[in-house]
Amino acid sequence: MKLTQHPEYQRVYIANEEAFHLCEQAIILWRARNEPISVPAYGLTWTYESAREFVRELSALFQEYNHVLWNGFNYCRQCGGQCCVADASNVQPFDLLAITLLDQSAPVLPENISASERQCIYLVNRQCSWPAEWRTIKCWSFYCLGTGPWRPGALISELRGEITCELQQLVRTRLPLPLQRYETIQGLALADALDDPVAFSEAIHNALFEIFVDPLNEVYPIIDLQLGNNNSNTPSEPRGALTTSLLLDDQVATFIAEAVEEACETPPVVPAELTISVEQLLQDLEALQWIIEGHPSHESQLLHEMYLHYANAPAPAPGYPPSIWYRMRDYLSKM
Ligand code: SF4
Ligand code: SF4
Repeated sequence: MKLTQHPEYQRVYIANEEAFHLCEQAIILWRARNEPISVPAYGLTWTYESAREFVRELSALFQEYNHVLWNGFNYCRQCGGQCCVADASNVQPFDLLAITLLDQSAPVLPENISASERQCIYLVNRQCSWPAEWRTIKCWSFYCLGTGPWRPGALISELRGEITCELQQLVRTRLPLPLQRYETIQGLALADALDDPVAFSEAIHNALFEIFVDPLNEVYPIIDLQLGNNNSNTPSEPRGALTTSLLLDDQVATFIAEAVEEACETPPVVPAELTISVEQLLQDLEALQWIIEGHPSHESQLLHEMYLHYANAPAPAPGYPPSIWYRMRDYLSKM
């Protein structure tokens, strides 16, 4: 298909390309000035070179992490990468800073691409076009059991637990020192979040934001830190858009009421593509109700994070109604 016709063209590909150039300019300036950036809350002082070393260590850790997934277990090899779907890449500021610090670039795609509209725009001939040294943290972190077949007689939780346990050992032993410092100050262990890989990637991004992205951004303003979301320079919402958003709120409120009833009465089966439970779905529905009622200032961020829980929900087969998971994904993608 034509690159420009892919649903992710503007909001992912172009948005990330523009943000990448801003990151690149900031890093070039930092390198030229050669000024350290101090982060007193975590006892850290970054130089251009120490930031490069940090990113190289993280890259090595995640490459090993993926080696475990592809060679220590057979789920990914069996499935061949079905998680490379539209909206799965979740490119964050640190990803763009990392590729800059590794002297790499955001993918530049040809006029005609091989990805279908349901696949990630960065998927080229079944291969990821991000640099081998840096896939996005979300993509690198993600794991699941694929579509089987699985070891006969084993529970899903047992099979997932085996992966989690191995990845936790790796992360605990190879986590770079600045992130260990973050863990000590915050009193948490990032590897503990690994039973949900999307939550783990969010926890890593939160840590990276605090120890590196935000301090860098204060000295070298990079970007609207919510890629693809509105920023303070965005003009106020036109009336038409506001009306549409109110109508959408009504539709979402109706959906929430139906979904809560359905999930409580007949708990739906969780598709293999998702790493969420029915309990978490109910929590998300509750949070979604709160969001549409209060429209908090960080609404976009909350909705985006919630969307990631359902991004891989499979579309219904022709002639079948969409599952509760797919409807959740659908509503969240419109908000
Ligand atoms: S869908 Fe799951 S099993 Fe398949 S490649 Fe992705 S993480 Fe591996
Ligand atoms: S690994 Fe690459 S192709 Fe797959 S979802 Fe991530 S960015 Fe897209």
